Amino acid sequence: MPDAVLTEAASEMLDWHGSGMSVMEMSHRGKEFGSIYEEAQADLRALLAVPPNFEILFMQGGGLAENAIVPLNLSQAGPVDFVMTGSWSQKSFKEAGQFCQARLAATSESSGFTSLPPPGSWQLGSDSRYVHVCTNETIHGVEFHALPDLQALGSKAPLVIDFSSHVASRSVDWSKVGLAFGGAQKNLGPAGLTLVVVRQDLLGHAMQHCPSAFNYQRVAENGSMYNTPPTYAIYIAGLVFKWIKAQEENGHTGVAALEQRNKQKAQLLYDCIDRSQLYENRVDVTSRSRMNVPFFLRDASRNEAFLAGANARGLLQLKGHKSVGGMRASIYNAMPLQGVQALVAYMQEFETTKA
Ligand SMILES: *Cc1c(COP(=O)(O)O)cnc(C)c1O
Repeated sequence: MPDAVLTEAASEMLDWHGSGMSVMEMSHRGKEFGSIYEEAQADLRALLAVPPNFEILFMQGGGLAENAIVPLNLSQAGPVDFVMTGSWSQKSFKEAGQFCQARLAATSESSGFTSLPPPGSWQLGSDSRYVHVCTNETIHGVEFHALPDLQALGSKAPLVIDFSSHVASRSVDWSKVGLAFGGAQKNLGPAGLTLVVVRQDLLGHAMQHCPSAFNYQRVAENGSMYNTPPTYAIYIAGLVFKWIKAQEENGHTGVAALEQRNKQKAQLLYDCIDRSQLYENRVDVTSRSRMNVPFFLRDASRNEAFLAGANARGLLQLKGHKSVGGMRASIYNAMPLQGVQALVAYMQEFETTKA
């Protein structure tokens, strides 16, 4: 979270803009929350350049719930093609199998999910209802730097992307996308808000047993107020959107400014890893994530000392995911360049200090 957002939220926690209420105490249908909601929607649409033929839905359930909600809305129980590039797309594939005919179009599992299968090699069915791709694999640290062009691959199916862990870190080419979903908790705000951006022609095809609160058409018709939306999480995300709008970097603003900064941050860290004798990143250089940088110490016996020294310097949450091991630096939008510089300085110092 950007410090500026937390400070602002703290200052208006008890009384929002002289309303005499905390945002948590507002009716979601009242005019105060209505203005917060409308601004958040408009700001996000502008920041991500979402075209008018897409709906922006503010839902609940997180990324994992979308693994079921997407097939319930789009698959009509028919075949769906999955590209498996790490833990998250693997979860999506497994969950979807309960609701549709989930097929594996490609997988990089044999490489230990350290590369991306080239789109030209994907086995896409002509009858596929949609194609699912996780565009940033948070745990394995692999990222699609360009979205696949399904039409060019001979497929008419819409592309569904899970962009949970790199949303708003770079621009999105909506001409290639049918639906994008993501939990808010990495780049947009607190947990509890789930973002769905869906092309209007994909609405209205939900299976009969799809829960009403998860039926995209119903949610869209009710302006994301079919039931009470996660109001406080939307409010905080709205403050983050204003923070993003105000960002500047090398003559760019908003998401483009963050994209510049994220490139710089990632480059600095990968350069440090690649130049070192101690640290190692195993991901194919063309597919390395700008948000999540997993790395290993070649001498694993120094892992605990590395983490303890990092903690002592306030460099926190560097332990890798248990399924991969090693270390992982998640350098989301709110992490300033100085944070990465501090990490790199520590890593160099640790390497040269004899164990
Ligand atoms: C964090 C994350 C999710 C999140 O799921 P939750 O249900 O919100 O915990 C989904 N997909 C990806 C790629 C993620 O990084």
